[in-house]
Amino acid sequence: MKQRYGYIGVLLLCVLVLAACQRGSRELNVLCTVSEEWCQGMTAEFASQFNIQVNSVRMSTGEALARLREERDDPQFDIWWGGPIDSYIVAQNEGLLQAYASPNHGNLLDARYRDPDNYWVGVYVGSLGFCTNTEWLADNPGVEPPRSWDDLLRPEFERQIIMAHPATSGTAYTFLSTLLQLRGDAPGWAYMQDFSDQVYQFSRSGSAPATFVGQGEAAVCIVFSHDIIQLIEDHQLPLVLSFPEEGTGYEIGGLAIIAGARHTDAAQKWVDWALTAEAQALGARYGSYQAPTVHGVALRYPEILEVNLIDYDFVGSAARKDALVQQFINEIATADNLKQ
Ligand code: PLP
Repeated sequence: MKQRYGYIGVLLLCVLVLAACQRGSRELNVLCTVSEEWCQGMTAEFASQFNIQVNSVRMSTGEALARLREERDDPQFDIWWGGPIDSYIVAQNEGLLQAYASPNHGNLLDARYRDPDNYWVGVYVGSLGFCTNTEWLADNPGVEPPRSWDDLLRPEFERQIIMAHPATSGTAYTFLSTLLQLRGDAPGWAYMQDFSDQVYQFSRSGSAPATFVGQGEAAVCIVFSHDIIQLIEDHQLPLVLSFPEEGTGYEIGGLAIIAGARHTDAAQKWVDWALTAEAQALGARYGSYQAPTVHGVALRYPEILEVNLIDYDFVGSAARKDALVQQFINEIATADNLKQ
């Protein structure tokens, strides 16, 4: 009799342990910095494939980093997905991320796409490009789309540029860091001063300027090129894509598990899944044409990487991020009243 109770006790314990494990993996909170469409699409795909409830919130890169800093002692998110890795390195340096050595790291195309200590991993790659409204070009005969950083300073583009602000946007910080890396600090900041005179409005989100320019609010934007392609291909906005021939910056889009995450097991599942060809191939279904970081996915728009890319210094860019953004706010443009 005693032995029977013993067996039942062990059985009950196993059931409880199993239930606890299952509960732990039934929910995942995702801080999305990719587009809303891709965020919604991928969270639904993951939820149905793994039977895990996924809650997501979309924020631009600088806002996401600020949120992680605020929640340091009580993290509400399990993973951060999307946005240039400069900010992931900042988060890593501040102890906001936890390392995870995914068994799928072997799928990566390049060693640069992974933090050597496994705090973040790259899940897409994209280059900065220019968009120009083709209807505006038709109304301004003789004006060509910009093909160098200096072209943005031409008189015909005065107050005709919409750009995000580096305080909120990873896209805009990539732009700022690119110019400083290309030209050096003093000439780079002098360029920023001239550039800001050309800007009609600074926005919060990095990709939004392409939509505003596509709608005719201004003539030119500086945005990741895959975002421009999406608006041309999927939304038929009157835009043409061009690149600065002397070299452009690029992003590795990051993914990381948050330090102190409540659902680490589900977070690890997401990381493993995001590093499969199957998951990365889904990007195009949700209007995301970035280059993949793993083997086995066709690059839909090779032109985004067949450009002159600078040897972007992600670690140096991360180390200087707070100081450069503050200098931008102090000397170039405040981050108050940004266009939504
Ligand atoms: N959305 C898309 C589609 C992107 O390619 C990127 C770049 O990583 C971002 C958002 C980053 O957004 P933001 O520049 O607003 O931080």
